[in-house]
Amino acid sequence: MALILITVMVILAAGPTWSSPSIIQMRPEKKTLLAADDLYCSSWRFTVETNDAGAWTRVPVRCVDFVKEYITGDLYASELEAVTTNAAEYARAIRISGDGRDAWVFDIDETLLSNVPYYAVNGFGSKIFDEPSFNEWVELAEAPAIAPGLRLYNELQELGFTIFLLTGRGEYQRHATERNLMYAGFSNWGKLILRGKSDEGTLASVFKSEKRKEIEDAGYIIHGSSGDQWSDLMGFAVARRSYKLPNPLYYIA
Ligand SMILES: [Mg+2]
Repeated sequence: MALILITVMVILAAGPTWSSPSIIQMRPEKKTLLAADDLYCSSWRFTVETNDAGAWTRVPVRCVDFVKEYITGDLYASELEAVTTNAAEYARAIRISGDGRDAWVFDIDETLLSNVPYYAVNGFGSKIFDEPSFNEWVELAEAPAIAPGLRLYNELQELGFTIFLLTGRGEYQRHATERNLMYAGFSNWGKLILRGKSDEGTLASVFKSEKRKEIEDAGYIIHGSSGDQWSDLMGFAVARRSYKLPNPLYYIA
């Protein structure tokens, strides 16, 4: 009995392994990594992408540098690539009818064309959206292609899909939008659908659902849809598969 008691006391005196110096040395390093605004902002971005953040109006002040780093760095490019790779794999597995009725719907801004050059000189989403200055940027027709988007676009055409471009841009921006798309390397789309006069004031999610319904009613099967906003993808007449691209710069209902 005495021997057992001594043995237990020796074990307790030695202490459990989690108090070993090597573990303690790791703690300050871990704390440094997690204590920064990065943790908050990374979680904020998660809620944005999952549509849990609701109708947010601007990037939180403490996250502006985070968003700048993200959107101009490798992670954004990698995530665009990852989503696009999934979409392409899905598209390749579809048996195309050959009658031109197999459709794919793309949003334009932050899906095929990048407005990062505009947001880079307008606070990376930290300011309330300024329509006049954004429209001036649209008229320049200089938005670069989102590279994985262009690659998916071209592959879908080779596979035989009919491409619909469905954008919240106004009908009055048709010419600039067409010019920009061609400047960025896009061609041969089936139809470019913009907001007409009668669509003004309609929520993007409703406007885009109505247009998808028209596409379906015209006899097309919308196999896939790509967009950076949930309002590009949700509602009614939804595509069989929807591909949400990342966008922590702005939110459209
Ligand atoms: Mg968009």
